[in-house]
Amino acid sequence: AFITLEGGDAVGKSTQAAALEAWLTGRGETVLRTREPGGTDLGVAVRELVLHRRGPVAARAEALLYAADRAQHVAEVVRPALARGDVVVQDRYLDSSVAYQGAGRVLDADEVRRLSLWAVEGLLPDLTVLLDLDPRIGRARRADREAYDRLEAEADDFHDRVRAAFLALAEAEPARFLVVDASLPQEAVQEAVRAAVAPLLT
Ligand code: C5P
Repeated sequence: AFITLEGGDAVGKSTQAAALEAWLTGRGETVLRTREPGGTDLGVAVRELVLHRRGPVAARAEALLYAADRAQHVAEVVRPALARGDVVVQDRYLDSSVAYQGAGRVLDADEVRRLSLWAVEGLLPDLTVLLDLDPRIGRARRADREAYDRLEAEADDFHDRVRAAFLALAEAEPARFLVVDASLPQEAVQEAVRAAVAPLLT
């Protein structure tokens, strides 16, 4: 099974991914927990390029760099794991590109999605958990952690567009998405995620 976690910055994706991995492992599943950007050697370099350089990165260049990261990650890490029968728990996937490069950077959402689908030869997750949170809460959470990245400088309306785009994606594909209110206590979020994941396990 291929499970992705999506949402804005600091909504708790990595915390939930870790909790889900622990739960799945406890049930005897072999889990590959990974993330993008940065899930491969090439991806680490791409992550550095798009997030930590202070020079300009054109919107289309950014979209192509994320797509390149995604292509490498799927080919090198995700498909082999799925072929082994692992459960793949992944922090961010193509919906992040539609939301950030599409709505955030104002590129055409369908074009960004098609670019990503081309990059990954059409691989879609079995389940995508959207952790939905007001970006202002995310910003407050983020303030007391981690080093500078370029997205920190984006105004609230950028993050509002990203949030709205994620919600629109979930509405368009209700069978793939679970939307969870990320302002709930961590345990409540975990419960909701487990309930959606359990039917995917054989
Ligand atoms: O999820 P993580 O915090 O590792 O993401 C790193 C940064 O990359 C975040 O600021 C996120 O908003 C940004 N990002 C992006 N476009 C993507 C994926 C991530 O702008 N497609």
